[in-house]
This record gives sequence, structure tokens and C-alpha cells, in this order.
Amino acid sequence: MSLDDKRGKGLSFTPMGIEDNNMRNGRGLSDQWADSVVVRPRTTERHITVHKKLVLGFAISILTLIIVTAIAVLLSVSFEDCTVAESSSRAGNGTSTKPNQSRDGNFNHKDEDTQPWRHLRLPTSLRPRHYDLKLSVYMDNFTFSGEVNIEFECVNSTKFIVLHTDRLEVEKVVVYSDNKKPGVMRIHRQFHYPSNQVYVIALHREMKPLRTYKVNITFEAQIENELLGFFRSSYVLHGERRYLAVTQFSPTHARKAFPCFDEPIYKATFRISLKHEASYLSLSNMPVENSVTDNDDGWVTNYFSRTPRMSTYYLAWAVCNFTYREALTDSGVLIRLYARPNAIMSGSGDYALQITKRLLQFYEDYFKVKYSLPKLDLLAVPKHPYAAMENWGLSVFVEQKILLDPEISSFSYQMELTMVVVHEICHQWFGDLVTPVWWEDVWLKEGFAHFFEYVGTDFLFPKWNMEKQRFLTDVLHEVMLLDGLASSHPISQEVFEATDIDRVFDWIAYKKGAALIRMLANVMGQAVFQRGLNDYLMTHMYGNAARDDLWNKLSEAMQREGKDINIKEVMDRWTLQMGYPVVTISKNESLDHAVTITQEHFVYDMDAKIRDPELFNRSFQWHIPLTLAVGNSTHISPEAIIWVSNKTETHKVGQMDEETWLLGNINQMGYFRVNYDLHNWRLLIGQLMNNHAIISIGNRAGLIDDVFNLARAGFLPQNVPLQIISYLPQEKEFLPWHAASRALYQLDKLLDRTEDYSLFSDYVLKQVAPKYHKLGWPTTSPDGSFMQAAYQAEELQREVIMLACSFGNKNCHRQAVSLISDWISSNKNRIPPNVRDIVYCTGVSLMDEDVWEFIWMKFHSSTAISEKKVLLEALTCSDNSFLLTRLLNLSLSSDLVPDQDVIDVIINVGRNPHGRHLAWRCFREKWDILNARYGEALFMISKLISGVTEFLNTEAELSELKDFIHTSSGGGAVAAFARAVEIVEANVKWHRLYERQFYQWLRKSPNG
Ligand SMILES: [Zn+2]
Repeated sequence: MSLDDKRGKGLSFTPMGIEDNNMRNGRGLSDQWADSVVVRPRTTERHITVHKKLVLGFAISILTLIIVTAIAVLLSVSFEDCTVAESSSRAGNGTSTKPNQSRDGNFNHKDEDTQPWRHLRLPTSLRPRHYDLKLSVYMDNFTFSGEVNIEFECVNSTKFIVLHTDRLEVEKVVVYSDNKKPGVMRIHRQFHYPSNQVYVIALHREMKPLRTYKVNITFEAQIENELLGFFRSSYVLHGERRYLAVTQFSPTHARKAFPCFDEPIYKATFRISLKHEASYLSLSNMPVENSVTDNDDGWVTNYFSRTPRMSTYYLAWAVCNFTYREALTDSGVLIRLYARPNAIMSGSGDYALQITKRLLQFYEDYFKVKYSLPKLDLLAVPKHPYAAMENWGLSVFVEQKILLDPEISSFSYQMELTMVVVHEICHQWFGDLVTPVWWEDVWLKEGFAHFFEYVGTDFLFPKWNMEKQRFLTDVLHEVMLLDGLASSHPISQEVFEATDIDRVFDWIAYKKGAALIRMLANVMGQAVFQRGLNDYLMTHMYGNAARDDLWNKLSEAMQREGKDINIKEVMDRWTLQMGYPVVTISKNESLDHAVTITQEHFVYDMDAKIRDPELFNRSFQWHIPLTLAVGNSTHISPEAIIWVSNKTETHKVGQMDEETWLLGNINQMGYFRVNYDLHNWRLLIGQLMNNHAIISIGNRAGLIDDVFNLARAGFLPQNVPLQIISYLPQEKEFLPWHAASRALYQLDKLLDRTEDYSLFSDYVLKQVAPKYHKLGWPTTSPDGSFMQAAYQAEELQREVIMLACSFGNKNCHRQAVSLISDWISSNKNRIPPNVRDIVYCTGVSLMDEDVWEFIWMKFHSSTAISEKKVLLEALTCSDNSFLLTRLLNLSLSSDLVPDQDVIDVIINVGRNPHGRHLAWRCFREKWDILNARYGEALFMISKLISGVTEFLNTEAELSELKDFIHTSSGGGAVAAFARAVEIVEANVKWHRLYERQFYQWLRKSPNG
């Protein structure tokens, strides 16, 4: 599954925190339970004697209490039985009786036997084998009816069939006994238990182990107008609105479309048939085996081939009137890209289709495991809660992440789209074929798919150099911002409730997962890593696996090479502990040619409240694979890993003197920050000024990111980062500039409403100006040639223009204004696609209202998806409160702005210093509506919360935030609010402690 990622676009660079994290997970809760049974101080002998009578009385009361409770429980149970039995089959709308159980899910066996539906997980006594699912889809009134026949095996004898349903109207249930005694089994009672989204069928007699049974359920439901389960959306073709219906089952929404055992471990085979009007076509995971037209009503029924064993959340189908283009891989897999007929006609899908063909081949070669299905369909839908979803054989993408118009799309749009496709195709192996056992290890599939976005894109376009370069800024630097918070969480997090499941799809799972996998791949060496993955996939294909299964296979691969590293022992430190270390390297004063290395947990705000002492522990230690360069040595061997496992260690290194600098974490392969004493920082800055090429591109970007963040957290004086960027005028490479502009953006948002702001912006402009004048503006539209060439030159030019325009370079402003004026007067858009977002935004912010209206008009008339998005973003750049308010209102109350873009509009208004208070106010006023609309897609609501709050930085705003949280219902977003408070507190604290020091240096700076 791809989450909607903004990779450093527009003037908005890349935001600090996007995704969710938690405090409210199972371990925290079990702590509360532990507290209540805390051991009391011992009662003394004397107390016992004195209070003997009291104790006796107490004992009697306890006994009475137990008896009364027992009776009450019995009564309440039978009472509840009556009520639920009565309300049976009124699916989805029953009132929930709060389950009286410990929330850690550890139900005792007795409860599981008597009331298994109260358990948060399905009872383990039954295992589905095969589903026959027949659906009739009524597009005229957006309903569907279905019949599912589930064949399952009994593992432990039980009278209960408990399976998931949500919002389904169950009509009829029949249970068949196994083949030995064929016949219908009598049902004692059946009911829906909404709080756990399960349907319970209690039989008269027990089912026996090792026998198979069948349950047949007929049901009805709505094709919802939202983004989960089986839902509908629409588009306009030749002035006529057309509808389509498609599924999104991950993580827990298959139960909204048919009764099923909706947990990833319950893999089964599926045979699906879809009946619908003949004017529509239907798709599912497998190819159509047989298609039958009904003579009476003319409707079509498509019978799809049986799937391999798979998890329910990867099942998918769609009913639409799309058209397609197709391609065939060398190994005979048929790939089709389905989209709106006009998009197919214009060729917007061709790019994704061609790269998919190459990617299937790439992954088959890399993993040495064939793609499992005969076909792969890619479906471009106008509306989707995520960027894309990797349903096996039928991956669904939101149009912006798969349709490309090469002549008007910017490079960053193309890159983003490419990576989403690479990500989803990877999932066909990591996810569909081998599925994580449970959601706590969702990072196993998402971390891999995210890591392979870079590896796979390098295969497609080797010159882009994604894994060695872009990975650093877009993944490593990005996630270290989040994971440096006290409200972060371990990458493997315990998951019990449905709301926990949405919570685990966050940047920690995706980006930290990818960063750890990259670190591990580099420690192991590419070839050995690849062999380990092959073994893992071969062993667990069509099944499920947990992280230990992976560690075992990778350890075995290492052992076969004669390298005895216990991967589990190393990786448990990184996956079960939250956060990451900062490693401090300094020359050892007493021992020649030796360095002292220390590690400690890096946290931005050391005073941040420890919300969960078990998760957040300052004495955390990691097994750190440290690589070290000593002095101006150009030859650095990545083989020479120093394993740092203790708080402080001393290691002998090469020849050193006073002027030799040390540089740790070569090419930023490791997931940690590196700090040095001030003398070493001075030497490094000197090296950058004199001859920066001695230090690798990746390390130059890494030094910039580390230095800004170490200063932000108070590890370094505020002038050190400002000093380091004074080498930038000499920097010719894109990546260090990109790292710098991301770091400067963070600072900019912290400072953009301060009195002395111009001291800062002038200093930045001074570093940017020489490069800006040297590189100039792009003159011609790219013709797609960058797909073959290195993109870095164009991206550097773009990055520098973006810095120049957003920090107020007059020449840059004039250029942007003249390009817009030319467009308006000639009605020909000659603005190069790669800088359109910068030009539009700058134009809207500097020019009068007419320009805003012009862009608004173009937003409506444009049919190109990429262009529409850029135009919409530009509208948020105005400094006119009236226009910004109008935009916010129109986005929220009309269908002029697509649902998934509304959140971006609010966030982008909040990034604009003139719009910050508007977005913040709008967010609070419309919270109930927003939460109702997006709350179930937790990722979106979390992104919104961090987007509108992360740049609040005054005491007044902090208390507004706290008041708001206090008075409103957070829903599933409690964790996102907790993190928002921590970030705003840190912002306020930064101003209190460092703002003066920061500006003082700028006032005195010779470069300032
Ligand atoms: Zn994914």
C-alpha cells in the first residue's frame, strides 16, 4: 500500500512530520493493568492480630461479593443472549455492549470457549480453506447482494462459528457438516456482535477437529460513497457522469463486502463471480474463466479463476466501464492498464504500463521467484484513500499516481509516480505472496516495498542514483525527524484493536523499515542479502511470516558465507526499541591513534514528557555498524565496520594528528546521527570550504542534515549549521542542496513570523544567489529526455530557483511574474513543467487577485491530472485572507476539489505564513466534519493534524492546541495529537532557548 507522499514539491519542500505514531498501544495499556496489581507494602504481624476480626469480616464480605458478582454475571450473560439473539442479523446498527475484558486481548481459555466473539481476535478453532463468492452488483441503486460458501477446517472442537462482518445485512445462514456425515447442522442462535465486527453462529452440537465443514451465507449491502470496503466513485465523460465501483479491503474492510475470516493469517483460495449489467466490465484478482449472459435480463456473469492461497485483504474486484491497453512480459504475464476511456485514448497510461512490464522482469530476476499469477491489472481510479493498493493481480492506483502526460508533467511528478508503481509491484512478492503474520510487522512488507522503490527505480533509470542519493533526503532524513520524538514508537508495535491496525501504517513502518533494511543489506553485502531474501520467499510463499523468520533466513545466508552474525540479536535492538542513537566520535586523549565512541538515544526535546516509560528509555543501546573515515583519506573501505554495542567504547584507528578530521557513517548507510567535538566540526567545515569533493555526496548531505538537527536539539551551538552552509556556493551536486533546503525550510517555518526574519532570509539568499545566477532558468520544455539522462542537473536548478523565489530574491520574483504575465496575455503556457509550481505559487503570492482567478479558472478547465494538482496548490500561496478563506470553504463544501486533495489544500494554506492562522482555525471549526469524513482512513487525518499544527510555535498557539484537544473528541487520532503537542512544545522551547543566540550570530556574521 502506498501512502500519499509529497516528495519535496513546490515551495512547500517536505514537511516535518506526516504520519502517525502512537502512545496508546497495547504495552501502554497492559502497564495500566499492571499498576493496579502493584505489590502493596507487607502487613505486619501486629496489624494482623489487631485486625483479626476485621479480616474475618472482610473475608466474608469478599465471599459475598464473589457470589453476588457470579450471579450478576450469569444473569447479565443470559440477558445479553436474549437481546442479541433478538437483534440478530440486524447487522451493523446494533448497540455495542462494551466487552468486559482486558484490552490486552489475553482472554483466558474459559472465556474463549464460552463467548469467543468477545475476543478481539478471531478464535483459532476454525481455519478457512476455500471461499466461493457470488456477487450481483446493482449500479443503478448502488447496492449489491451476495452469497458466500466457505469451506473450513475445525482445529479444536467448538460450537461457534465466529467470522467478520461489518455493515452487511445477513439474510440466511446454513451450516453443512463434513463429508463423513453430510447434512445440515442445526443452528442454535446467530447474532451480530458489532463492537468486534463479527457475526456469530452458535450450533447445537460441536464441530470436531480435523473435519471440514461449510457455511453458506447470503447477504446484502450498499456500495458506499466513501473510500473503504466496496465503494463507488465517478468521473465525467463527454459531459456525462459515469460511475464505477471498486474495493479497498486493506487492512480490515473485506468484512464490509462479504462475511469472512478477515485476518491475514487465514489464507484461503477464492473463486469469485460477478454479475452486472452488460454495459459494465468486471475485474478481479484472477482472469475471467467463463462469461455467461443471462437470456432474461441480458446481464453478464463473469466467473473468475480460482486464486492461490491468499489473505482476505488482498482480494479485489471492480465494476466499471473503463478501457485498457496491454503489454506482455517475456515470461508470458499479461499486463493491462485500465482507466477512463479518454485517459487511455490520450496515452496517459502508457508510461506506467511500460515500466510495469520491465519491473516484473526485474523482480523475477532479483528475487529469483516467478510472478505467481497469469495476469496483472493496474486500475486507475479517480478516488482512492491511498496512493495505491497492491491487490494481488489487480492493483488499484489513484489517477495521480499512475497517469502521466509526459509533455506537461514535471520531473517530480514522474518520479513520484514511478516510485509508487515500483512499490506496488514489489508487494506482489513482499505482501501478496509472503504476508506478515499480523499487523505488528506490517513494516516487513511496507519497509521492503519502500526500500525497493529506490532499488527498482535505479534499475529503470540507473542515472537517477536513487538508492545512494535520493534515499538519504527522502527517507532517512525524513523519518529521523519523526523518530527523534519522545512520542515515537518502535517499528514493531503490538496491535490488538481495529483502530490500532490503521495506526501501524505510518512513516515509521515505511521509512524506518526501509532505512533499517538498507542498513542491513549494506552490512550483509548485496549478494548475500539477495540470497537470504530468495530463501525467505521460497520458504514462506503462499503463507505468512514474522520478522524472526526473516532474521533466521538472513542469518543462515551469512553463515553460509562463513560470517557468524546473529541478525536477530542485532535487529531486535532496532525494531523493538523506539528511536535511534546519536553516536559521538572524538579523538582519545590518552591513547594514540584511538577514538572514543559513545552512543545515546537522540531526542529533540530531552524534557519531553515520557508518556510510556517502557517504550521510551534513555538508557537504550543499539548494536551500531559504524564506518569511519580518518582524515583526508580518499580511500574508504566500507568493509571495515566497527560494531559499537556499549555506551562508550575505545577503538584503534589509523594515523591521526591535530588537523586530521574524523567522519562517521560513510555514505550514511546507518540509521543514526553522528556528532563530534567542536574542533572536529571546524575541521570538517574547513574541508568543505577548501575541497568538498573529498567527502562523498551522500556524506555532504548527511553532514548538513545532522548538523541542523543536532543544533535544533541543543547538541550544538546554533551557528554551526549556519556556518556549514556557507560552503554551498561551491556545491555543484543536487543532493547536498536538497538536504540544505529541507533543513532551511524547517527553520524558515520556525522563524517566518519573527521580527528579525530578514536577517535569516538575507543570509540564506546570500548563499543561494551565486548559484542562482550561474544556473539561471530552464528555457525549453523538457521532451522527456530526462528519463534517460541524469535528472540531477535539472533538479538542482529547480531547487535553487525554489530557494531563491521563496526567500525573496528579486530577480527570481521578476522572472516568475513575467512568465505568468506571458501566459495570461498570450493564453499559451510556455512555463517549463519542472518549475511550474514555483512560478504559479510565486505569481499568486505577488500579483493581484486576477491572477488567482486565472489560476482558479485553469484549475477547472485543465484535464491533465498532474497540472490540476499544481494549480490547486498554487491557489494556497495567496497572501489575501479573503481568497484563502474562499478556497478553504469551496474545498470543504463543494465537490470542486477531489476528496483526497482537500486535506492538502488545508495543509498548504497552513504552510503559508499568511494562511497559518486561517488553516488552524478552519481545522478546529471543521474538525467534526473532517474527522467524520476522513477519520476512518487514519493516515489522512494524522497527516492533516501534523500539517496544520507542526509550524505553530507561540505559547498562545500551544495553549490553543491543548485547549482544542481537551475539548474535542480525538477519535482514532489521539496519537497524532500527542505528537503535535510535543512538536509545538519543542518549537516554543527552541524560541525561548535559542532564537536570541541564533540571531546574535547572524548579526555579527561576516557572511551575513
Ligand atoms: Zn505498500
